[in-house]
Amino acid sequence: MRPELGLYVYPWDFGPAAEETLEGIRGWGVARLLIATAYHSARIRSLRGAHPAHIEPTPNVVRSSLAMARFGEVRPREASEVERARVRHLAALCRGAEVHTTAWVVGLHNSRIARTFPEVAALDAFGSRASHALCPANPASRRYLCELVAQIAASGDFDDVMVEGVGFMTSRDSQPHFISATSESAWSRRLEAICFCRACCDAMENAGLRPDEFARRVRDVLGEYWNLPWSDAELEPPDDLRSMVDLWFSNRRSIVASLCRELVDAASGVPLSVSAGGWGSDLREPDEGVDPGQVLAAGAGVNLLPYDVSPGEAASYLRDDDSRARSTTVTFTFAAAARPARSRIENELAAYQTLGVSRFALYNWSILPGSVVPWIGELAGGMS
Ligand SMILES: [Zn+2]
Repeated sequence: MRPELGLYVYPWDFGPAAEETLEGIRGWGVARLLIATAYHSARIRSLRGAHPAHIEPTPNVVRSSLAMARFGEVRPREASEVERARVRHLAALCRGAEVHTTAWVVGLHNSRIARTFPEVAALDAFGSRASHALCPANPASRRYLCELVAQIAASGDFDDVMVEGVGFMTSRDSQPHFISATSESAWSRRLEAICFCRACCDAMENAGLRPDEFARRVRDVLGEYWNLPWSDAELEPPDDLRSMVDLWFSNRRSIVASLCRELVDAASGVPLSVSAGGWGSDLREPDEGVDPGQVLAAGAGVNLLPYDVSPGEAASYLRDDDSRARSTTVTFTFAAAARPARSRIENELAAYQTLGVSRFALYNWSILPGSVVPWIGELAGGMS
C-alpha cells in the first residue's frame, strides 16, 4: 500500500490565506490533515504569526455544530460560529484539494467538564478529584464521548474520526501546573493515577477486588515512598499490591475496549481510531488501559504514539496479526520533550514501513520551528 503522511493542524492557524496554506502543505506530499475539532485547554507556542507568540485558544470547546439536546447531563461547549465555520471551510478546501480529513477529537481530557461535573472526574486513592481527567468507566462520561463522536462523525465534514484520550489518564498529563517535591518513578506514577471513583470501585468488586483495601494499600505505599529522601530508585510495590494492580489493569483494558466498541457504533460507519501508547507507556502494560490489540478487536483503528516505544518494541505487537499494521497509524511527535532528531524519525519511518505500516502522521505543524518545517516535505518524499 502506498504510504500516506498526515499532519496534525490547529484550525486557528488557517486564516484568510487558508487555501494557499493548504496548497503549500499538499505540495509537500501531505495527504491528510488531522484537524483539532474538540480540544482541551492549552497554551501553545505557535510560530505562525509575524512574531513568536503564545496562543491560548478557547479552551475545551468543540469546533463542530452540535445538537445539545441529544447529550445527557454532561454536555460539551460549542465553539463560536466563527470557529466552527473555520473548520467547515478548511474541511471543504481539503475535499476540493483531495486531501483526506480526520476530526482530531480530544476525548476524556476536559477541565471544564471535570470542574462542572466532578462526579465524572477520576478520583485518586487519597480522595482527590482530577481537575481535567474524566473516568472512562463512568457511564456519564462514556455517554458524553459517544454522543460527541456520533455528532462529529455525522457532520459530513470529515473522512474519519481519531479520538485522543479514551483511557485512564496518566499522572504525566497534569493540569493545572503541578507542584511537588517528591521522587517519581514508573510505579509511583502508575499508582497515583489509579481511579477509585464509584464506577471503578463497582468494577473492582466485580473483578474480585476489595476497593477500600486496594486504595488503602496504594496510600500506604505511596505515602511511604513520597516521604523518603529523593532518590532515583524505582518504587517496588509489595507483592500483595502488585497482584491487585495486575488484576485491576487486566480488567481496565476491557473497560476501555468496550468504550472503543461503543465509539465505533456511535460513529455509524465513519472509520474511527483511537490513540494508544503515549508517554511512558509499555504497549504490553499500558498505563492508560488502552490495549492496541483489544482496540483493533473492538473495530477501531489504532493511532500509535510510540514516544517511549521503539519500532523493535512495537514489532511483536504489529507482527502478532497481519491486519494490525494495516489498521495502525504511527504518529511522530515534534513536541520538544520528545527530542525528535530527524535521523531518528527517518529511521523509525523506514522501520515501521518494513513492519507493514503505511499510514503515518506528524504532530504537529502548528508548533514547528521554522527550520524544521522543510522536514515535512523531505520525510514525505522519502516515503514514496
Ligand atoms: Zn473511575
